[in-house]
Amino acid sequence: MKVLDLVCPHGHTFEGWFASEADYAGQQQRGLLVCPICDAGDIRKRPSAPRLNLGHAAAPAEPTPAAQPATDAPMSPSAIKAIVHEVVQQVLARTEDVGERFADEARRIHHGQAPERGIRGQASAAEREALADEGIEVMALPVWRPARH
Ligand SMILES: [Zn+2]
Repeated sequence: MKVLDLVCPHGHTFEGWFASEADYAGQQQRGLLVCPICDAGDIRKRPSAPRLNLGHAAAPAEPTPAAQPATDAPMSPSAIKAIVHEVVQQVLARTEDVGERFADEARRIHHGQAPERGIRGQASAAEREALADEGIEVMALPVWRPARH
């Protein structure tokens, strides 16, 4: 896993997680990288930056928290939000949206009737329970859209 510090044309900085440097380059070339704060494309690597810089990943409207110590310190709500957002973005970037067919598709993958891959979509609580009973692991994802500015 390669963690890169990225920056959008508007100066928003955030982290991107990639399988490799080549994975980053491929996604960048295909225009798959967008700023999680303003959705702008043309994302570039920052030459050098702190490994964790959550304060700057928060929406600009919120007060910028003081530099976060790497561990053990209580996290501000905006820092937690930034991490959740990051995770959600990564999941969205790496899974196929199968929408309402989620439960069916999860079953097909589980039984080898569809290619093994990450999928996302909608499932009711009853569907999730049924999948769990069949030994198919699914995870609920927080739905959260960043505020536009
Ligand atoms: Zn931006």
